[in-house]
Amino acid sequence: MTESPQVITIDGPAASGKSTIGKLVAERLGFVYLDTGAMYRAVTLAALQRGVDTNDAMAVSDIARHVRLDLRTPTLEEADGRQYTVLLDGEDVTWEIRAPRVDRHVSAVAAHGGVREAMVAQQQRIGQQGAVVMVGRDIGTVVMPDAPLKIYLDASLEERAHRRYLEAVARGERLDYEQLLAAMRKRDAYDGSRDHSPMRAAADAIQLSSTGLSISEVVDAVLVLAAERLRRPVTG
Ligand code: C5P
Repeated sequence: MTESPQVITIDGPAASGKSTIGKLVAERLGFVYLDTGAMYRAVTLAALQRGVDTNDAMAVSDIARHVRLDLRTPTLEEADGRQYTVLLDGEDVTWEIRAPRVDRHVSAVAAHGGVREAMVAQQQRIGQQGAVVMVGRDIGTVVMPDAPLKIYLDASLEERAHRRYLEAVARGERLDYEQLLAAMRKRDAYDGSRDHSPMRAAADAIQLSSTGLSISEVVDAVLVLAAERLRRPVTG
């Protein structure tokens, strides 16, 4: 019998808390943390840097197949509040992939079948190694459908937009809250209605709402589920 890899999937809309929760759960369990959204963002940045129209499926898919993406733990010199370091063809693009222009184009890029194929193949290679918390939109449905624990994390649109706004302010950026809210609503609608792997909860996902909950309350809830669902390591 082949055992399903030790993977926790966390899917959900923008700023639902997936990344924060995913990272903390991974640290507590000693698992690798993979934010798949950063991969789609890096491909988007690569297309924008090359002046490629992000609606051009062929050209953008070609970029997705050829760029080199590395997500790794930050070195001591890099520690500036980042969760991880993203390298695009060797260049540090960790903060650049969070820019509003990437936000505006990433859903179009992520909707191309060729882009998804290239990203999903890389994500599955990492997932098969096990001991991973993988965060995204289609991880429980498409990337790791056999994962023993799948979470779908949501929160109200207003709370999510408010969190993103505070994060940007903490980084010293000036954003208009109403514009951010409208852009987030648009991105969620686009991600949820595209043809290829639309964002949705897997039938066997556990749905959690982070509205009104503290980060540690959600982390604890996921850890309780992980203790129930994941194979315990053999000790002694
Ligand atoms: O999670 P984040 O907001 O950084 O994701 C950016 C975008 O990448 C999403 O809006 C979505 O279009 C795309 N994405 C995706 N599938 C994933 C992760 C992200 O389509 N597994």
